[in-house]
Parts: sequence; structure tokens; C-alpha cells
Amino acid sequence: MSQQTTANAEKAASNGVRELFLYNTLTRKKEEFKPIKRGKVGLYTCGPTVYNFAHVGNLRTYLFEDILKRVLLYNGYKVKHVMNITDVGHLTGDRDMGEDKLEKGAAREGKTAWEIAEFYTKAFKEDIKKLNIIEPDIWCKATDYIKEQIELIKKLEKKGYTYKISDGIYFNTTKIKDYNKLSHQPLEKLRAGARVEVNEEKKNPTDFALWKFSPKGEKRQMEWESPWGIGFPGWAIECSAMSIKHLGERFDIHCGGVDHINIHHTNEIAQSESATGKKPWVRYWLHGEFLNISGGEKMAKSEGNFLTLENALIKKGIDPLVYRFAVLQTHYRKPMEYSEKAIESSKNGLEHLYNQARELGFRNKDLGIKNIDLRFKIKFLKAINDDLNIPKALAVAQELLKSDLPNQKKLSTILDFDKVLGLNLGKKEEKIPAEVEELKKQRETARKEKNWKESDKLREKIEKLGYIVEDTQDGSRVFKK
Ligand code: AMP
Ligand code: ZN
Repeated sequence: MSQQTTANAEKAASNGVRELFLYNTLTRKKEEFKPIKRGKVGLYTCGPTVYNFAHVGNLRTYLFEDILKRVLLYNGYKVKHVMNITDVGHLTGDRDMGEDKLEKGAAREGKTAWEIAEFYTKAFKEDIKKLNIIEPDIWCKATDYIKEQIELIKKLEKKGYTYKISDGIYFNTTKIKDYNKLSHQPLEKLRAGARVEVNEEKKNPTDFALWKFSPKGEKRQMEWESPWGIGFPGWAIECSAMSIKHLGERFDIHCGGVDHINIHHTNEIAQSESATGKKPWVRYWLHGEFLNISGGEKMAKSEGNFLTLENALIKKGIDPLVYRFAVLQTHYRKPMEYSEKAIESSKNGLEHLYNQARELGFRNKDLGIKNIDLRFKIKFLKAINDDLNIPKALAVAQELLKSDLPNQKKLSTILDFDKVLGLNLGKKEEKIPAEVEELKKQRETARKEKNWKESDKLREKIEKLGYIVEDTQDGSRVFKK
């Protein structure tokens, strides 16, 4: 880098915003991110279907989205993040066939669909907290936005995109030219995929439900009046209605797992752009790759044998942040294999990182922004701004920790990086053995009584156990030699 570019880069780094490249599924290219409104980002991430606990695969997707959001914030953007809670309308078959997952969950547990939704929404929010995922600015439940969904369907009906069959109102996908623009699949292939679940009455295999009627003679737990009859919304309409309501008819980024590309997101685009007439509805579409169980076993909520944060980690006494650290080590567009061995090695890796950070913290206070090493900050920014290359950013963090910079500088810089990594590097206190803590207490009493001889003896004992005592204005501290 020439001196001039270094100076510019430093200026940019210290000012915040600089070039950020993201892989856009819509164009299949890494593109420079340019928000619609200067300095602001509208972000919508498809949330959980709350009929069961989230599994670690689902959580991988939310971790990727959290990293994206943190990278945007680190670059100086103001982010408005909206996440939905799917509490109605997601059927066991993704193509509007089968049972409502919520009603199925209710039957399984002998509760109402409403109770199921409330219980698993709460569990989900607890999970993401444990993973240090920043909460969205707005949570929205599909059942709270029935009116908006009906309004959107009415617009589509008026414009001639819909038709009615015996079980609901459907979107006619042949009415639009670019139905396959997100999936990049030939239409024939999409149609063939859609034929797996057949509804003979649909005009085209890819057509999807906007509103489904409650089955004749059956009262559903969740159903509403509509201009077309009593029923409930289709799966994709909630995301279109709620994102438009909170982020506008055009916004910046929409995310989910790769499984959403061909159906859910493709249908969201079709109905949103047809209703508003504005294209593109969303500028950047980002998708996270799947987490697979080692050995190729599929992880799905519907299988009932999946790994949750609780049974995979917490029950075994493993800090959930170990899973966050494991996820950070694989780029979000690469499939990741889950195994106990991988978790074990992530546990060791994170413990090592905590020890490195603690060593810097012993005698130092974070002096904040002015003390950050700009050369390393630029390297770190380059990695994260290259389509969220966190594995590389972690390597930069290691390079920093092993460098010969003063500890004070390393500390401020690593704590700055942790704004993106979210590993709580500054908050992990060293675990002091009970025996050492007890000796420290006894020494404090001896000092209060001005029994210096006893106090010195206790210091020696502590040092023999491999710890150092430091007397400060607020009492004494012990740390590993
Ligand atoms: P759901 O609760 O089923 O609607 O899914 C919630 C999120 O998890 C969606 O963004 C899915 O794309 C994503 N997802 C589902 N299975 C996996 C998996 N095995 N690995 C990563 N993400 C997944
Ligand atoms: Zn969605």
C-alpha cells in the first residue's frame, strides 16, 4: 500500500464507512454494498416457525445474520432489523400441502396452537441471547398482521394475479416473466420440483397459496374472516406484508437459509413486486449454507431427533458461545459439518482465545478507540468486508495477539474486533481456583489487621500455586503467573 492509500484507508477506517462487498444470490456476484438511504440499512431476516425448539442448524443461520448485522454496524451503518415469527400458515409441506406445523405441535403436546407459539417463541429468544445474537429492532408475529396480509392479497387480486380453487386463493406464477430470477433455475426444473406435492386444481405446479380456507366442517384453532372466506394466510405472504410495513416497498437486504431460495423467497419476490409494481423489492439477497450432521444425517425440526443448544451443549456444561465460535470458523456460504469432535476443538480454541485476552487484561484498562492499532483494524475490515470472511478475520485477530505490539494496544484492538465477533472477549473473568480465592481472603484479613508477616506468608502460598497477588486501591487481585 502506498503512503497515500494507507492514509486514506486509515481515515476511512476511523470514520467508519468503507467498501463492503456482499454475495448477492440475485446476481450471483459479490457486489459492493450501496444502501438505498445513505448510512442506513433496512434488513429483514426470516425468523423461526415456532412449533418446536430451534435446532443448531437453524441457529447457524441466525448467527450468520448476526455477523452480517454486526459487520454493517462496524462499518458505521445504522441498521433497522426486522425479524418475523411464523406462528401460522407454514404447512408440513413447503408447497401449501399438509398440516399446519403449529396445529401439529399443539396436538403433539396437548396444548393450544397459541400456547405452542408462545412457548417456542420464548425459547427461541432465550437461545439467541445465549449465543450473543443482537435482538432485532422489531419482532413481528404473522398472527398480528392478518389485516396487512389480506390487504396485500386484495391488491394482487385487483391486478389479476390470483385465482380461486377449492382450498384457497392462489398466485398465478405464469403471470410474471421473472419468476425464476432468484433461483436461476430453468422454469421447467422449478416446475418439476413443485410436482412432488401435487394439488391437481392448481393451474401451474409453482403456483402458491396466498390464503387458505379452513377445511369444510372443521374449526381451526387459528382462523380469520377474509373477503374470500374463513381461513389463514399462506406461508410467504406474512414476510412480504410485514417487511413492506416496517421497511418500505423497497429495502436493502433480505436473508435466510439456502433452502428458502427456490420457494419461500422466490414467492415473496413474486407477490411483493407484483403488488407494489416496484422492482427490485429487495436489493441484496443473502443466504446461509446448511449445517449438516456429520455422516450426512439431515437435521430437521420435523424429524424430532435434532440437536438443540440445550441438549448439544448446555446439558454437557459447554458454553453456548463455543458453538458461536465454531460457526465463525466456517464461511457462511460453505456447508458446515456438526460433530462432537468439532465442538470439542472449538471449545479448546475459544478457551485459548479467552486466555490470550485475559493475559492482556491483567494490568490494563481498555483505552478505547484512540488506542486501536489501525494497521490491524484495516486488515480486519478488509477480511470482514470481503463477503463476511470471518475465518480470515479470526486469523488477523491471532496475528494481532501474537504480534509484538504493546499489550495495551492489543487489548483495545481485540476488544474492537469483538464488536463483530461477539465472543465476549472482554467479559470473561479468569476462573480462580477456590483454594487460591480462600488464601486471598485470608490475606486480606491479615492486611486489615496489619499482620504483615502473615500476609507475606499467604502471598508465598498463593505464588506457590502459580498465582500472583496485586494490591490495588479497591483491594487485592489474583491472576495466573
Ligand atoms: P424454520 O424455523 O424451519 O422456518 O427455519 C428457520 C431458519 O433456519 C430458516 O432461515 C432456514 O433456512 C434455516 N435452516 C433450516 N435448516 C437449516 C440447517 N440445517 N442449517 C442451517 N440453516 C437451516
Ligand atoms: Zn420469510
